[in-house]
Amino acid sequence: MIADTPVLSAQNLTKTYGSTTALDGVSATVRAGESVAVMGASGSGKTTLLHCLAGIVLPDTGSVRLFGTATGVPAEITSLDDAARSALRRTEFGFVFQQGLLIPELTAGENVALALMLNGTPRQVAEQQAAAALAALGLAGMEGRRIGELSGGQAQRVAIARAQVNGARVLFADEPTGALDSRTSADVMALLLQSVAGTGRALVVVTHDPEVARWCSRVLTLADWRMVADTAGVAR
Ligand code: ADP
Ligand code: MG
Repeated sequence: MIADTPVLSAQNLTKTYGSTTALDGVSATVRAGESVAVMGASGSGKTTLLHCLAGIVLPDTGSVRLFGTATGVPAEITSLDDAARSALRRTEFGFVFQQGLLIPELTAGENVALALMLNGTPRQVAEQQAAAALAALGLAGMEGRRIGELSGGQAQRVAIARAQVNGARVLFADEPTGALDSRTSADVMALLLQSVAGTGRALVVVTHDPEVARWCSRVLTLADWRMVADTAGVAR
């Protein structure tokens, strides 16, 4: 793994919603193996930046490139249609949000296995891999529990397992500890970083919490929809 290799590169992104600005000329590069915190006041464009990087939202202008694809040709995410972007999201990216991405009616194991089955893994294999991924995050034997029967911290571990089980090269987390107490937050953040450390996988984590940002290798700061700082983090 070469730590300096870019995985994602965004150039000059702009985005408006009617008369509301969400991004105003933002560029950012994410490299293999790094953990990047995105900070900034509420409304400064953090979520929009993350969604543009992940191909969930298309910017009005600017480009996002994904490097190291199977074809060897960088993917111009901003030029892909919906189907191609959604295929990229299933295979290259994993997502951990504050809450709501897990299906409450399904068990922990089923939630994780679903990410694999959507990529064509047979159910039985998917369930075995899901159980192993959950065990690696401290949830051994809990694959049969429904999400509603788990604590907030346990549910976020399931979300982390699901985000990375498909071999995603980039994990995106949008305020993943926003609904947790500070102790549980620290645990979840540590697991999130552990799941990228030494794998070459990159993590992009939106957070308001300077403690969370401290754990990352780089900190990007947005203000008024622009990038105002790009600094080395304290960790690693
Ligand atoms: P942050 O995550 O930093 O709080 P966002 O990226 O969510 O900021 O939002 C940036 C600005 O764009 C805000 O003013 C927000 O209200 C607006 N915005 C974001 N998404 C939408 C949307 N889908 N429709 C309308 N306005 C939006
Ligand atoms: Mg946000």
